[in-house]
Amino acid sequence: MLEAVLYEWLSAANHGLTMAPGLLHGAYACLKHHGSDELRERYLPKIATGEWLATMCLTEAHAGSDLGQVRTRAVPQADGSFRVSGGKIFISGGEHDLTPNIVHLVLCRLPDAPAGPKGLSLVLVPKVLPDGARNAVHCERIEEKMGLHGSPPCSMRFDEATGWLVGEPGRGLAAMFVMMNASRLHVALQGIGLLDAAWQKADAYAAEHRQMRAPGAVPASRGSEAADLIAEHPAIRRILDTQRAWIDGARTLAYRSALMLDVAAHDADPKAREHAQRWCSLVTPVLKAACTQQAFHGASECLQVFGGHGYVREWGIEQVVRDARVTMIYEGTNEIQAIDLLVRKVLPDGGAGMSALLLELRDTLDASREADADVQRRLA
Ligand SMILES: Cc1cc2nc3c(=O)[nH]c(=O)nc-3n(C[C@H](O)[C@H](O)[C@H](O)COP(=O)(O)OP(=O)(O)OC[C@H]3O[C@@H](n4cnc5c(N)ncnc54)[C@H](O)[C@@H]3O)c2cc1C
Repeated sequence: MLEAVLYEWLSAANHGLTMAPGLLHGAYACLKHHGSDELRERYLPKIATGEWLATMCLTEAHAGSDLGQVRTRAVPQADGSFRVSGGKIFISGGEHDLTPNIVHLVLCRLPDAPAGPKGLSLVLVPKVLPDGARNAVHCERIEEKMGLHGSPPCSMRFDEATGWLVGEPGRGLAAMFVMMNASRLHVALQGIGLLDAAWQKADAYAAEHRQMRAPGAVPASRGSEAADLIAEHPAIRRILDTQRAWIDGARTLAYRSALMLDVAAHDADPKAREHAQRWCSLVTPVLKAACTQQAFHGASECLQVFGGHGYVREWGIEQVVRDARVTMIYEGTNEIQAIDLLVRKVLPDGGAGMSALLLELRDTLDASREADADVQRRLA
């Protein structure tokens, strides 16, 4: 949970730079749960300290949302290693010189694997091999993008690169999902951090700059000024207050989900673990889609507060709008989150889990309304 809070702050401060260490948490969890003792011993300590960074190599030119179409191949060798060949695109942090080694977790297909998602395996391919030799993995191109310029998404080529299997053959997606679920909460937190950064910039601007007379402005705040503060115009208050409500609500829900992830992993009571697991599986796709959708649209509203000054670079708000756009796309597009929620989480138990969650939320709301009324009574 503490990591979730920190991650939101880092994303608000610099989304692009935060992408570099952003995958370490998920890569660590994936290797810890599914890696062999040897792989864990060799890679986990340096992933934990951040001495080596990690990537998640899923997407191919023809296989984005539909990972079942992945074609990268891994051929077993007599010494237990694999030779990995194929191309991946959009790989965040695929190549850089920030760290001496990069640990790639590559979704690929073993010989004779069945078609579709059930034929996918996960292979760890390091940039530098244990004997110090450079592995046959190359960056062919860095994508030119709309925003997020601090993070290089690379087209990667694996030319019979050496790697080692993580988890069981054909269970690659299951192993990768350990990484993806952690990543989805992180992307929701990126959205919240970015929206808060946009709001802070807009709120400060509106509290300093003046334009026209605002209906209902407090005369005392005018002094000798010929115009009222931008913050006093009702249309601008609506923008600022709407984003503030989103930030506070989304933050509460995201931190609660991070706490539930801890409960699901560590609580001694199996019923508490099961309840927390249900919360996480139902709320994570909603958080990812809702927080990122609002991050982009809300940041664009915050840009409006600056007028033309928002559209030029010097106030920094246009960067937030550009950076926020990608959060609706990566880690499963928001359309894929909707499918995940309905098809994998709601329909399999006939909606029972979702109904229980909604009842729980209603009870929490009722309790907080009562607590609120109590505070009001005391204040009166
Ligand atoms: C900056 C950046 C960084 C990235 N980093 C990584 C990374 O580190 N590792 C990695 O593996 N990938 C990464 N990606 C790739 C990203 O995860 C994919 O772009 C994303 O999964 C979508 O795949 P696609 O681009 O092929 O779009 P497509 O899958 O072709 O989708 C196109 C459109 O169709 C919609 N669509 C597709 N199927 C359905 C459906 N069944 N129902 C409704 N709508 C549907 C999609 O939502 C989307 O709007 C990154 C991408 C970007 C832009």
